[in-house]
Amino acid sequence: MEVEIGSREAVWNGILINLGFAPQLIDGEVSLHALDLEKNLDPLLCEPPLVFPTNQVIIIDPGHGGHNVGTQSVLDGRFEKDLTLDLAQRLKPLLEEEGWNVYLTRIDDSDVSLPDRVAFSDEHKGALFISLHFNSAAPDENQAGLETYCLTPTGEPSTVTRNYADPLNDNLPDNAFDPENLQLAVRIHTALLHATAMEDRGVRRARFIGVLRGQNRPAILVEDGYLSNPEEAKKIEDPEYRQKLAETLAAALKPGSGVK
Ligand SMILES: [Zn+2]
Repeated sequence: MEVEIGSREAVWNGILINLGFAPQLIDGEVSLHALDLEKNLDPLLCEPPLVFPTNQVIIIDPGHGGHNVGTQSVLDGRFEKDLTLDLAQRLKPLLEEEGWNVYLTRIDDSDVSLPDRVAFSDEHKGALFISLHFNSAAPDENQAGLETYCLTPTGEPSTVTRNYADPLNDNLPDNAFDPENLQLAVRIHTALLHATAMEDRGVRRARFIGVLRGQNRPAILVEDGYLSNPEEAKKIEDPEYRQKLAETLAAALKPGSGVK
């Protein structure tokens, strides 16, 4: 783990993660906030790693759907909702081959509310939840790269707040899985970066993501590149690339593997 005095960005095994508080130099020693030790260092440095037993249920959530089209490709206006559904449908059989029982929160172009996606996860007794998205910084065409989100631990400020108040002391259902959320996010983020050589925009913490807050299981949201960036949009629109993303996700979620 590499940390920098005064910066919340830290590097863990070559990937960017975000601390809640910037490390400080106190009496000549690098000091980290106790919550960062507990919520960010412990889950990564200490056993046990996240291990997936076989025959468990995984919920895959293709972002958006129906009237909620998500973002759009800068190249041809193609909708995020169609690309996330395609990626989820490629991922499902691959995960099934690995022994997961897979449920998608939508299997067609329907607009499923965020609370319904969480309720669906409970109904199907999901052991894990992964929401798939593609990003946009339109009209900025330069921004590119991978972002992986999980819920902010109680007591820490988020990396990204948008217009959300970000109440630090909220203890949300998914906060029961703070260590597993980070382990899952880091594992998926690392695998995708290695497979695609996308720019690393980091594992990020947020409270505004409605599909994560109420989850009763480890849950993450992956922003698999920018549809507002012409180069990345071209890749994302290539079915072979989406297949590669699906294969990478399935490999990273292999049951029994104890890799941190
Ligand atoms: Zn989205």
